[in-house]
Amino acid sequence: MGKKLTLGRAMDDGQWALMLACAPVGYIYAVATTGICCRPGCPARTPNRENVSLFDSRAQAEAAGFRACKRCWKP
Ligand SMILES: [Zn+2]
Repeated sequence: MGKKLTLGRAMDDGQWALMLACAPVGYIYAVATTGICCRPGCPARTPNRENVSLFDSRAQAEAAGFRACKRCWKP
């Protein structure tokens, strides 16, 4: 790790349920343990809820120190 991450908003129960359902939502998920941010419906393994915070956009998450998931944003 090393790089300092700034966490986004905490999820409520409804937002967590939407994530598990891979529902399209207007925000993205940032995982503190991996330093990666994902779009809804990411094929990667579901992270632990306590490690996930929310950002409104990929740009915001990257500004907070997260990297965009390669599976969510293909080159
Ligand atoms: Zn992803």
